[in-house]
Amino acid sequence: LSTWSAVPAGPPDPILGITEAFKADKDARKINLGVGAYRDENGKPYVLNAVKKAEEFLTAAKNDKEYLPITGLADFTKNAAKLAYGAESKPLNENAIAITQSISGTGALRIGGAFLARHYPHSKIIYLPVPSWGNHTPIFKDSGLEVRGYRYFDKKTVGLDFNGLKEDLQNAPEGAIVLLHACAHNPTGVDPTQAQWAQISDIVKEKKLFPFFDMAYQGFASGSTTRDAFAVRHFVQEGHQIALSQSFAKNMGLYGERVGAFSLTTTNAEEKARVESQLKIIVRPMYSNPPLHGARIANTILSRPELYQEWEGEVLTMAERIISMREKLYDSLTKEHSTPGEWGHIKSQIGMFSFTGLKAEHCKALAEKAHVYMTMDGRISMAGLNGNNIEYFAQSVDAAVR
Ligand code: PLP
Repeated sequence: LSTWSAVPAGPPDPILGITEAFKADKDARKINLGVGAYRDENGKPYVLNAVKKAEEFLTAAKNDKEYLPITGLADFTKNAAKLAYGAESKPLNENAIAITQSISGTGALRIGGAFLARHYPHSKIIYLPVPSWGNHTPIFKDSGLEVRGYRYFDKKTVGLDFNGLKEDLQNAPEGAIVLLHACAHNPTGVDPTQAQWAQISDIVKEKKLFPFFDMAYQGFASGSTTRDAFAVRHFVQEGHQIALSQSFAKNMGLYGERVGAFSLTTTNAEEKARVESQLKIIVRPMYSNPPLHGARIANTILSRPELYQEWEGEVLTMAERIISMREKLYDSLTKEHSTPGEWGHIKSQIGMFSFTGLKAEHCKALAEKAHVYMTMDGRISMAGLNGNNIEYFAQSVDAAVR
């Protein structure tokens, strides 16, 4: 008998399963709208010019491959913090941001979860929006936190359930942790307005909740890294202490390089040093120290003005292509096909994804009859659409819902 004979087969990852089905499909019209990675107008993965130039620069520099410190490349984390919090940020300028490089956004969330489970004194409960990115629940459970949900998405309006959100946060136990998607909420594409963020900040303050921001798409939502950092900066300005997860997967297209950062705002440099010492104690036995190459790429872009400028332009180009796909899809469904249903949310939603409102039976029909693959919750990655396939997609959606 094998040692592992009692290990049950786990369910396949719902998103990676879609990629498998897509790969196996031989039809030339097939479209993969499952995966959350940017595709250019030809449907191809896109390596940013700023990244290519940074890599050329790094090759020429002939760096060694020594280990990084436990908290990673110090220049990179300094520049990452500046990108998120803004050059004017008070904790940044007071040297009061504890930060560590992380294995992209996922690793940042995991370190954050572990830190809060060990050191956050008020609660072990974390509230996630319903729905949230599918990996949030297992990340925080594995970190040792108790996961609960707050209302976020209203199926009827295909928009934000702001009253439900406020009610649930108001009724949360004092001191609970609340996870907030800083921008480009995944999977819904629905973000609070700036005025709504201000109200959320007030409730978080009043109920003494602890805000943990997941910022996986800075710049990707609106095309402006500053605009997309509004919620994070507003909370900091309002005097909240926050936790923040950053990813450079989407906004620099560094997916597989695994570049990210986790940070906590503290009250002064001495406290920051204590907190950072505990971050090191969490990271060291988990993976010792983070990978080098991606952090060097990101840091080269963030620290060289000409590359930074080129990067900002490319972020805008990616965001604008996605926004233009939203407009084309909306126009095609409503004007060309007069597809039954209300589709305004396709234009008002933001970021990589759109929650289309398509039901599981529609999604199934799209996969089986039209070779169009997406998650069964009706989420599509807007980046998977382009000038060559959007008309076919609109036509297929129209056929599926009639
Ligand atoms: N958080 C959200 C909301 C995401 O959508 C993602 C990626 O899809 C991540 C975090 C983490 O991604 P990564 O670990 O690739 O940075």
